[in-house]
Amino acid sequence: MRTVSVDLHTHTVHSDGTTTPSQNAALAAAAGLSGLALTDHDTTAGWDEAAAACARHGLDFVPGIELSAEEGEHSVHLLGYWVDAEDPALLAECERLRDERATRADRILALLEGLGVHVDADAVRAHAAGAPIGRPHIAAAMVDAGIVGDVSAAFDRYLSDDGPAWVPKHALSPDDGVRLIAAAGGAAVIAHPGTAADRTAATTALVARLAGVGLAGVEADHAGHGPATAAYWRGVAVDHDLLVTGASDFHGERKDVRLGASTTPTDVVSALRARAGRAAAPVAAGRGERW
Ligand code: AMP
Ligand code: FE
Ligand code: FE
Ligand code: ZN
Repeated sequence: MRTVSVDLHTHTVHSDGTTTPSQNAALAAAAGLSGLALTDHDTTAGWDEAAAACARHGLDFVPGIELSAEEGEHSVHLLGYWVDAEDPALLAECERLRDERATRADRILALLEGLGVHVDADAVRAHAAGAPIGRPHIAAAMVDAGIVGDVSAAFDRYLSDDGPAWVPKHALSPDDGVRLIAAAGGAAVIAHPGTAADRTAATTALVARLAGVGLAGVEADHAGHGPATAAYWRGVAVDHDLLVTGASDFHGERKDVRLGASTTPTDVVSALRARAGRAAAPVAAGRGERW
């Protein structure tokens, strides 16, 4: 039976997933969903294929993107829905993020080398298969080489934000990320706020701040959140008049979660769409300068 719900956060081979956009659409249809979002990191490259595949399956397609921001040396992920893929500022930021991934991967491999752990750069590139390199690609190469037993162990021991091989991406603030998404006509949602369990207080304060900048929603229902964590973030969303979304954050074989594991009801998707483009203030000029 088809439910009226949408998986609002899925990845493909265009970033660090292992499935194609068409496969995601087929999985969404098989799971009985009514719609599907594509939210690859830093790129909208999968949108056209996903839109066509969703149309074939009678699914509503929600175009999305996942942008990385930095808050005090920790990454914060922002989902942007219905952004204009041609928006110059958004395009520039995506290009910057993708370029930076290449040099960042080299720096991560150098840090690992310094720890006595050799990971072959070509093996990492083979996992990325042309997509911008992310830590999951490095983790996969480490599993292949027998350095760790699985991807989680690679993150736990080396690659996590607190790990010895952590290299921050760059300093787009979450505030500027929300403004960028809104200015590109999109609705911004903070992704998986509860996966950094040790930073609950800081992330709660961040959500309060971003609500004033134009944040539209909180991804409270996420495969990485247990029931109590999901309930907590639902409460935070309600406190700030933000929408509550749910999504699997599907990455194909790279994560042990099935597409459709968490979803968002279509009335919430409609409410989210109504908030798209509702910017609080334009992106400040001179971003990154010191005054
Ligand atoms: P990056 O974009 O290179 O900073 O890598 C971030 C990505 O790594 C996230 O989007 C997830 O796909 C993945 N990731 C982060 N933490 C973990 C973890 N503990 N276990 C498995 N995958 C993770
Ligand atoms: Fe990812
Ligand atoms: Fe994420
Ligand atoms: Zn994601």
